[in-house]
Amino acid sequence: MKAILFALILAIITCCTSSLANAVPPMSTNRCSGDVRTVTYTVDVNFDEHSTAVVKGALALWSNGTGGRLDFAQSAHVTNKTLDIVSIGVNEFVQSLDKHNEATTLAFYDPSSNTISVISSRISNEYVLGWVMVHEIGHAIGLQHNSRTRMTWMRASISDVSVDLKLSPRLPESDRVAYWNLDTCKEIGQ
Ligand SMILES: [Zn+2]
Repeated sequence: MKAILFALILAIITCCTSSLANAVPPMSTNRCSGDVRTVTYTVDVNFDEHSTAVVKGALALWSNGTGGRLDFAQSAHVTNKTLDIVSIGVNEFVQSLDKHNEATTLAFYDPSSNTISVISSRISNEYVLGWVMVHEIGHAIGLQHNSRTRMTWMRASISDVSVDLKLSPRLPESDRVAYWNLDTCKEIGQ
């Protein structure tokens, strides 16, 4: 009887230990070492002063929204490790996209070169620039599109992002959680 009881307790402990382990992913030592992940970036000189400030504002939105766990440091030099943010013309837009995307894309992130390209002639104003930058930075730090809610910057089309979010730009819970999950880092305070 004692042996059965012991086995039962052991089974319960085993069950609950493993489910807890699933609920809290282990810290990834390569991506979560220390508390801050720093991304070094460059901004193309083709962006004027005002547009550069908008780009930096989009980076700050991610930095602030992740409680400073994601940090961005500007570099004067393009290296194979920097995230390069460039302004291009439509003619330079040679991505192998389908016809729809080719006609509507405002900006895109290329992981092979770690570059965010903004097709500046298609950006109608600084608000749109800010919105697409937040989205592309999301891709650059590893996020995919999210079609489950409008309260995300990661909708495939910026027109599907909540108007409330666009009028009052901030990092919504869905994007913050997506970033934590991606990095398998525990949230601050946990
Ligand atoms: Zn996208």
